[in-house]
Amino acid sequence: MSKTDLTYWQQQAKSLTIEGRAFINGDYVDAQNKETFACISPIDGKPLAEIALCAEAEANQAVTCARATFEHGDWSKAAPVKRKAIMLKFADLIEQHGDELALLETLDMGKPISDALNVDIPGAVRSIRWSAEAIDKIYDEVAPTSENELGLITREAVGVVAAIVPWNFPLVMACWKLGPALSAGNSVILKPSEKSPLTAIKLAALAKSAGIPDGVFNVLPGFGHQVGKVLALHKDIDTLVFTGSTGIAKQLMIYAGESNMKRVWTEAGGKSPNIVFADAPNLAEAANAAAGAICFNQGEVCTAGSRLLVEASIKDEFIALVKTAMQHWRPGNPLDPNTNVGAIVDQIQHERVLSYIEKGKEQKASLCCGGNKAQPVAGGFYIEPTMFSEVDNNMAIAADEIFGSVLSVISFENIAEAINIANDTPYGLAAGIWTSDLSKAHQMAKAVRAGSVWVNQWDGGDMTAPFGGFKQSGNGRDKSLHAFDKYTELKATWIKL
Ligand code: NAD
Ligand code: MN
Repeated sequence: MSKTDLTYWQQQAKSLTIEGRAFINGDYVDAQNKETFACISPIDGKPLAEIALCAEAEANQAVTCARATFEHGDWSKAAPVKRKAIMLKFADLIEQHGDELALLETLDMGKPISDALNVDIPGAVRSIRWSAEAIDKIYDEVAPTSENELGLITREAVGVVAAIVPWNFPLVMACWKLGPALSAGNSVILKPSEKSPLTAIKLAALAKSAGIPDGVFNVLPGFGHQVGKVLALHKDIDTLVFTGSTGIAKQLMIYAGESNMKRVWTEAGGKSPNIVFADAPNLAEAANAAAGAICFNQGEVCTAGSRLLVEASIKDEFIALVKTAMQHWRPGNPLDPNTNVGAIVDQIQHERVLSYIEKGKEQKASLCCGGNKAQPVAGGFYIEPTMFSEVDNNMAIAADEIFGSVLSVISFENIAEAINIANDTPYGLAAGIWTSDLSKAHQMAKAVRAGSVWVNQWDGGDMTAPFGGFKQSGNGRDKSLHAFDKYTELKATWIKL
């Protein structure tokens, strides 16, 4: 048996011990009232583990510990070079446990094991490593003052950070927050999605082994409306960082206003336009990318290229190319290393995506491919990647974030119309532009209101560049040195000389 076989991963899954407890002050603990909730695998609908159902008591306990360790200073006041060394060890341990973490991710949320191994684990490791390496290289500033005074501009850790993350890239989204938050010296409480708590829980043990002091990193599994809400309303949390839907992001800002005005930084939803002009350098390549942009990770991607804007003169030709490209993306057993489309995270999301496919049909969009449930594994939640053409930007399938492989093709006549349609959305996360005309590419890149713009490619990015949204796709940025802004307060100190 080798790692390229389905049976290898099925065996690994059978022999896996799954930790379902919360992690508070350096130890795995049950919820105080011993309550749990079931973790169901979307691969086959079978239960995987019982997970500690955290709520108010656990949140209060975790915040108290996080505050105490922050004040004590073991971590917060440690030299950056010391935190760096421990964070680098943490990254190494994530890498060393990559197979186990990847398997947990696949079992828990249904993504293909190949993606978990090749995308999620390296992404998580790089995030922690990059932030760690940066922390002893960031200098503070001195203000250009008059001779008789000294103005120091310094950055301090904010204190206690709550990180509430979604289920589509559970480990990566957590590590985008943990890297800069912990490296900067904060104490962190991580609340994974109730749909995907397993890798976050495992991460806690690795953090402890790496040498992160007890109380600095806590994990509270549970539901958003329970433990999530308690954290968001908590008066002793300084900063709340969030990745998830726009609706919940708005709610968190209200909770902050109702409680202690904690800083709220959100990475929220998207409905990103992928804009293909007739003069694209290579239409087949653009079509492959357009298919990948909606099929990768079952379409459960905040930057999914869910609105495909195609210049009218090449519409039929291009749709045919995308249709061919989408044949390559087929639902299969996520544990099979050859699978490129896995299971939808759970039954609720499965029904939601199918309901949008029905809406597309009702509103008279034209179904080009897909549109049905699939059943590669009995009991699991699967859907064929789906494409609709003849879509109007006001239809539900073009307006709402579906978070599934449902592609809406909208045609346009000229640059002005392309810009109008692209920006006619409350979201502003990402956009793709395909053209050979340099001037048109720049004109479009400036005109599109989005945090990431990709020219003649889809989904470019790295830890070296910030990631986040305009408009209702959120505020603040993950990744790059800009991410540290969220985890530090800026202080001006004036000294009379
Ligand atoms: P969600 O908003 O339903 O949940 C996200 C997290 O918030 C979960 O941990 C959930 O338990 C918690 N939560 C829910 N209600 C809460 C409440 N009342 N108080 C506190 N916490 C609460 O999102 P999801 O379905 O898990 O993830 C999908 C969404 O995430 C999509 O909208 C997607 O676009 C977005 N996303 C954005 C990015 C980005 O970087 N912009 C990346 C990945 C996913
Ligand atoms: Mn799950």
